[in-house]
Amino acid sequence: MIKLGNVVKFLAVLILGSIAGIIGTLLLAPRSGRETRQSIKQKGQNVLHKLKSAREKSADPNMKEISNWGNYPQVQVKFHEFEDLETLRKLITQSDEVIARGNGRCYGDSALAPEIISSLRYNKFLSFDKEQGIIRCQSGVLLSEILDVIVPQGWFLPVTPGTKLITVGGAIASDVHGKSQHKAGNFSDHLIDMEIMVGDGTIVKCSHTENTELFLTTCGGMGLTGVILNATMQLIPVETAYIRQESIKIHNFDHMMAVFEESENWNYSVAWMDCLARGKHLGRGFLTRGEHAKIEELSSKQQQKPLLISERLKLNVPFNFPSFALNTFSVTAFNTALYLKQPNGTVESIESYDTFFYPLDSIQNWNRIYGKQGFTQYQFILPKAASREGVHRILDRIAESGHVPFLAVLKLYRQQNGYLPFGIEGFSLALDFPIKNGLFDFLDELDEIVLEYGGRLYLTKDVRMNKSMFTQSYPNVERFINNVRDLNHGNKFKSFQSDRVGITQ
Ligand SMILES: Cc1cc2nc3c(=O)[nH]c(=O)nc-3n(C[C@H](O)[C@H](O)[C@H](O)COP(=O)(O)OP(=O)(O)OC[C@H]3O[C@@H](n4cnc5c(N)ncnc54)[C@H](O)[C@@H]3O)c2cc1C
Repeated sequence: MIKLGNVVKFLAVLILGSIAGIIGTLLLAPRSGRETRQSIKQKGQNVLHKLKSAREKSADPNMKEISNWGNYPQVQVKFHEFEDLETLRKLITQSDEVIARGNGRCYGDSALAPEIISSLRYNKFLSFDKEQGIIRCQSGVLLSEILDVIVPQGWFLPVTPGTKLITVGGAIASDVHGKSQHKAGNFSDHLIDMEIMVGDGTIVKCSHTENTELFLTTCGGMGLTGVILNATMQLIPVETAYIRQESIKIHNFDHMMAVFEESENWNYSVAWMDCLARGKHLGRGFLTRGEHAKIEELSSKQQQKPLLISERLKLNVPFNFPSFALNTFSVTAFNTALYLKQPNGTVESIESYDTFFYPLDSIQNWNRIYGKQGFTQYQFILPKAASREGVHRILDRIAESGHVPFLAVLKLYRQQNGYLPFGIEGFSLALDFPIKNGLFDFLDELDEIVLEYGGRLYLTKDVRMNKSMFTQSYPNVERFINNVRDLNHGNKFKSFQSDRVGITQ
């Protein structure tokens, strides 16, 4: 049986195999192994030395080296935390180059700035109406913590991304989406209201009907209007903690698009694609679709406690992999094995919500498989009519380039609200690339193709898009920038990303 969960099983095998391979290389090739061990020891001593001198140099205990999920860039910043509003107000009014940070699950530099205010300790639940399914909490609460509270009571998040390890503030600021985007839209579509501390330290409440400019600029606004303090969210009712899933083998890109269209009435859909397959196999993979399961669809064991699921076993990637671990050979082997294991046709199963929505959360630190240089996710979207041709051209260009993307995820979208909406009616493809020389120049070339077809890139995954690409692809940039300047008291809130794409510089 194949499903997206099998991506994780294959990934686990790849990780364990690679760890064994790396250890084997060190132990079984005595000469080169000895040299490698000495070099690792030397590098370790260098790192320790650097850390020691950095510690000595920095009298400021708030200085911290930090990166987000892509492990690139790694920067020294002033890192602040707060638990009460007075502390936050002082931090905001005394800093001029500051950005809020949640759990650092954005891939690039949108939550990085010379000064960072972490919301992780501002994480209390404020109320939960179990009759109406309305929950209110502070912005540092993680979606995983919300699920732990609401699922046993028969409620679920209407929109959730591919990891539950993000904060409510991060979910709003990136206006995240998930497998339900084509039906349920984005996170902000289910927000009742929120409060924000803006640049002069005042607190402003906003919603779809109150202070709407602030609301629309904050949802998907990448933290540039202030620090989101709390939010009230509408949940959806569920009978069980399980998902009825169908997994369909896909033979090529036309087949992929047809099955996505045919799945439009399903609440959840997403596809894994073998991004290295060429010719008539281009676009092969499998599409997974799902619905919240009803009690009668569960096994008799599951029916005994339909709203409870058991803890999943967790694997950890203990160290950064060497850069050679992911190459054309290993990724082709991984993709081919994954594709071949999927039986033809459709496979039905009942999955826990955890396995269905968050397969990668069961491998802690999986970002280390890309090595210490880190990685970036190139997530683009193209209008539906242009998707077939555009995706073909991009995959062909990648095949010639020598840059090997690892996981590739395809998804159908509908139009998104807000001033910086990623979602348009079309297909998005997300490709993970290890960072190496020449990658960013190559991605600039892909940007040209995306632009030519009327597409854009997802800001929360981005780490290198230039100003020209950003301003040409996001139609409401000017209004967004003007609003940020008004609401933000100049450019107090800014990130390395917002400077790079020209919002705050
Ligand atoms: C494995 C994985 C899968 C993912 N899948 C998806 C997916 O399917 N769909 C999707 O949309 N995204 C996805 N993401 C991206 C992730 O959901 C977003 O980047 C999210 O914003 C991260 O939230 P965070 O709490 O970690 O915020 P951070 O990464 O810390 O910050 C993200 C942005 O939010 C701002 N921010 C954070 N907290 C606040 C606050 N309190 N007030 C104001 N601004 C704030 C930051 O300034 C920054 O601009 C995925 C990420 C990972 C690692």
